[in-house]
Amino acid sequence: MDSTPYSCVCGQLVLTITPSLQLLPVRQTVQKNEPKSYVIPRNHPACSFKLEAKKDRTPILIKRQSEASADTDDSAPASSTELWWLLRCPRCKLPVGYDLDEENMKFNYILDGSLTAFTVDRSKTINKAD
Ligand SMILES: [Zn+2]
Repeated sequence: MDSTPYSCVCGQLVLTITPSLQLLPVRQTVQKNEPKSYVIPRNHPACSFKLEAKKDRTPILIKRQSEASADTDDSAPASSTELWWLLRCPRCKLPVGYDLDEENMKFNYILDGSLTAFTVDRSKTINKAD
């Protein structure tokens, strides 16, 4: 399977994923100013990814309106607030995504616009064991 690499605006490789973000579900936004985010299922046979981001130790509080319809996040009841543990680029510390639940993570969320897909010149790929 071909995986798509994504880098932060600073050039740091942050995410490598199959399939590409464009094929993943988009989280339903409930507020006008809420950023669009892609939903990465952590335990899905068709999705494999490597996320190299630093997670904040303390979450931020995000205000959301109650949701009438079902969300991709089925674990969260309708509520007006939720906690985001921001995932940051390891180099420039810019937020690239977030986790919702520290204990029982089913999904990672990637903020739209924070990462850029780039094409890799396979001939120059270095096999690095990590
Ligand atoms: Zn960065």
